[in-house]
Amino acid sequence: EVKKQGRNHYLFYQKEMQVHTTRRMRIEDGLRKAFELGEMELHYQPKVNIQSGHIVGVEALIRWTHAEMGVISPAEFIPIAEETGVIVTLTKWVLKKACHQNKYWQLQGLPPLKMSVNISSVDFGTTDFVDYVLGVLREVELESRYLELEITESVTMKHVEQTIEKLQILKDAGVFISIDDFGSGYSSFSYIQKLPIHTLKIDRSFIKDLDPNTTEVSIVRAIITLAKSLQLSVVAEGVEEVEQVELLHKEKCDEVQGYYFSKPISAEEFYEKFHKIEEKMEFVH
Ligand code: C2E
Ligand code: MG
Ligand code: MG
Ligand code: MG
Repeated sequence: EVKKQGRNHYLFYQKEMQVHTTRRMRIEDGLRKAFELGEMELHYQPKVNIQSGHIVGVEALIRWTHAEMGVISPAEFIPIAEETGVIVTLTKWVLKKACHQNKYWQLQGLPPLKMSVNISSVDFGTTDFVDYVLGVLREVELESRYLELEITESVTMKHVEQTIEKLQILKDAGVFISIDDFGSGYSSFSYIQKLPIHTLKIDRSFIKDLDPNTTEVSIVRAIITLAKSLQLSVVAEGVEEVEQVELLHKEKCDEVQGYYFSKPISAEEFYEKFHKIEEKMEFVH
């Protein structure tokens, strides 16, 4: 009896592993072909200046619809892209597409916006990353101040000296640099000060629990104070409720981003909804 149970258990385990490996393998395989097959798309989510109420930027977020598996979340495939090295191709594709889109909106008559692109630590390990970024800006004829790179704390922790050097070149060229998901990783105050960056983006987890009736606001207030004292601007991500906007306005946060304004949407939808999104800030004036 014991033996039988053990065997069943083993078979069950083996089957689970198989399902897991198969999905993982299909994603790995699919990632390599996804670009040629036209399965990748970019969606854009606005960032709003909390004082003026104007949209000042957008974050580009990749979307993948696999022919058989359907929509796959970046939370699932980005780590796989990083492990397999496909991220290098992915980032280049996103950078080029996002910069072209940003230029196109300018030509369509939208106010000039800062385009934010998420960058992986793997990208910073490649030798041609900085040249690629600057090459895209030249090719697209987009001013460098209309591009921002979002990096996480773990990116900068990997090859500190080398990364600082690369960030400095990009910063000197006029590209903006932001620390994404700030507060969620291993923030070290001593080295944040050494990084050539412009912005801290407060992690969504701190915004989620933000409620004027509780003391949760103290962490957000501390990050805003830290940013100001380092002369950095500060953005809150994951803003879903009007009360959160009001509180962040009171706390003098610079920019807000989240479902309250808009989910990430296609370029066409963003162009159409631009003014409607800004109307959501009219209560502030
Ligand atoms: P992230 O860079 O921190 O992006 C913010 C994520 O939060 C996005 O999820 C966005 O859709 C979601 N979000 C925005 N506002 C709200 C809100 O109000 N409430 C909630 N619950 N969620 C909100 P998404 O698009 O699924 O992306 C997840 C992560 O995948 C990103 O986190 C980023 O780390 C990575 N990612 C996405 N696109 C790219 C890309 O093009 N390149 C790289 N390297 N990573 C990417
Ligand atoms: Mg981001
Ligand atoms: Mg983030
Ligand atoms: Mg995040």
